[in-house]
Amino acid sequence: MIRAATTAADCTGAAGGTYASGVTANAEIDSILQRGADGGRITPEEALLLYTDASFHALGEAADAVRRRRYPDGIVTYLIDRNINYTNVCVTACKFCAFYRAPKHAEGWSHPTEEILRRCGEAIDLGATQVMLQGGHHPDYGVAYYEDLFSSVKEAYPQLAIHSIGPSEILHMAKVSGVSIEEAVVRIKVAGLDSIAGAGAEMLPDRPRKAIAPLKESGARWLEVMAVAHRHGLSSTATMMMGTGETNAERIEHIRMIREVQDQAVAGGYRDTPVEADGTGGFRAFIPWTYQPENNHLKGRTQATTMEYLRFIAVSRLFFDNVAHLQASWLTTGKDVGQLALHLGVDDLGSIMLEENVISSAGARHRSNLHELIWMIRTAGRIPAQRDTLYRHLAVHRTEADDPTDERVVSHFSSIAMPNGGARTLPLVETR
Ligand code: SF4
Repeated sequence: MIRAATTAADCTGAAGGTYASGVTANAEIDSILQRGADGGRITPEEALLLYTDASFHALGEAADAVRRRRYPDGIVTYLIDRNINYTNVCVTACKFCAFYRAPKHAEGWSHPTEEILRRCGEAIDLGATQVMLQGGHHPDYGVAYYEDLFSSVKEAYPQLAIHSIGPSEILHMAKVSGVSIEEAVVRIKVAGLDSIAGAGAEMLPDRPRKAIAPLKESGARWLEVMAVAHRHGLSSTATMMMGTGETNAERIEHIRMIREVQDQAVAGGYRDTPVEADGTGGFRAFIPWTYQPENNHLKGRTQATTMEYLRFIAVSRLFFDNVAHLQASWLTTGKDVGQLALHLGVDDLGSIMLEENVISSAGARHRSNLHELIWMIRTAGRIPAQRDTLYRHLAVHRTEADDPTDERVVSHFSSIAMPNGGARTLPLVETR
């Protein structure tokens, strides 16, 4: 039996600390949940057992206990950023991708730096603190292209954090330029890259990765690049795309691989923010999201269910004793599921996403705005706060009087993947 709450403070989580009152019929599962809730390490085998066999109630309760212990202030964060795509031309042809076009395809495009800078300026005007520059593996784009891109953005907008690209792009640019991973990482960091996005992780274990992205680097290589970046002071996030036919064991293997690299980062002391001084290193956050089925070669033959997603969120919170933050993906799962995830260990609702084209091209149609994101957090019983890339709180909205008032801050402010290219007026829930 899982240890019961003993005080009212335990029940509300106001005082932080362990709380779990669920009762399951399985003593082994109870014991694992209790250990996880208390901050102890659970093994991959135990994580799989929890994922497949723990009651949803007990799983969520234990994961939420971790969230409360880590964040006793009850704050859930969000970010204002814009995903700007520099090209959709790509030689890697991942089967799940609806965004890319092969070189010489009539629908292939690349944006000049001036257009990217224009979009950065627009994002800043709307309160963005971060841009995610994201694109295909263009056959001509080596390290010099990215150096120019990042240094141009930094020069024009030094206040904007560049949280961009992923290990796949780094490997691709290093190959195009004929340089080592290390050299590529150092050069793009010097040029202005602040943080590496966790993009391209998809599924890290070999079998499911080869099935959906046969031309991409292996999961081990993806992690190797992250480890190099961490050693050079570039922290990152880690993602996972679930729902393309991987097994439950492969999902757990994915997070095992990430946790192992994170252990090395923690042991190496590769920390760069006060928030991470609690013992986490290179990966600041874990962000699972669900495969979207439209306009790609997998054609939606498999998809993760909402319950699979939510259970995985909870297991991830219990498993990652060395990763500080867990983010819900409202863009792919929907806002109601994103809000529900806040009760399963999540402490961050991600970005408003002023622009997003990659996942939206595959069918993610969910939209939101600043008021609604704040409303989702507040009505879940949490305190909304705008954060920056490094999870530092920029503005805490303790009451509605503290809320921002800019009505222009909407997701998909511009998007080539959305009908009419944007979403300036939205049919949203009442937020006031
Ligand atoms: S996911 Fe990235 S690497 Fe794969 S095809 Fe799409 S743009 Fe290219």
